[in-house]
Amino acid sequence: MAQIELRDVKLSYFTPKQETETLRDIRLSIEQGEFISIVGPSGCGKSTLLSLISGMQKPTAGTVEIDGKEVRGTSPKVGYMLQHDHLFEWRDVLNNLLVGAEIRRMNKRKAREKALELLERYGLGGFAYHNPMQLSGGMRQRVALIRTLVAEPDILLLDEPFSALDYQTRLTLADDIHRIIKDQGKTAILVTHDISEAISMADRVMVMSKRPATISAVYDIQFDEG
Ligand code: ADP
Ligand code: ADP
Repeated sequence: MAQIELRDVKLSYFTPKQETETLRDIRLSIEQGEFISIVGPSGCGKSTLLSLISGMQKPTAGTVEIDGKEVRGTSPKVGYMLQHDHLFEWRDVLNNLLVGAEIRRMNKRKAREKALELLERYGLGGFAYHNPMQLSGGMRQRVALIRTLVAEPDILLLDEPFSALDYQTRLTLADDIHRIIKDQGKTAILVTHDISEAISMADRVMVMSKRPATISAVYDIQFDEG
């Protein structure tokens, strides 16, 4: 059984006057531990697709399942990382990492231990008590990724996590983030409009066509070892 399964998903946005069909006939199976990239032009519906997997929106037709169960709202199983890190500048790095734990009323001591362990493991151990404003853009995005990992999600949704960064930073950060996600054994779905980014990070690349978007091609990425 695939971990994530979308069956004939359709999503329309409605206004009082009209229905705009944004996604049509989306069929998608993702295995545990896979890293998938979804590429497509701006506005084709990539973020909308992630919102369905995260449970923030319901499909107009079709079904979205995670671990064989229909998604009915958000769950701690799914973590979300966005283009802008949204770190609070009146809290230090550690306390930014605990925001999710506070909202979900997780055990605070456990969350804190987890956060410190992740910072240490991924090279940010010395920054727990720094203000996010003292960090570079790339470091802030790594903190944002660690924040989603504190809740121990099985699945990570990454919505253009590199778009706000300069080119050089993107290259190193993409590598970094790929390594962290594989190291943690998470399933990841990366949405991007940058085809080379999509190819360099993923096991499989899916191409979305223009609206109403459907998945028009799927490519397996084969890397030569060594
Ligand atoms: P992408 O992530 O590929 O850039 P989006 O999923 O953000 O695309 O948007 C797909 C289309 O759906 C766009 O045309 C956008 O304007 C429209 N759209 C997105 N969110 C809404 C909404 N809440 N209400 C109406 N239309 C929306
Ligand atoms: P950006 O990604 O915004 O270009 P980087 O994340 O590459 O920035 O880091 C910017 C600066 O911060 C670098 O000069 C680097 O020396 C420093 N830096 C980054 N990560 C660490 C770290 N774990 N420990 C100490 N310094 C770091």
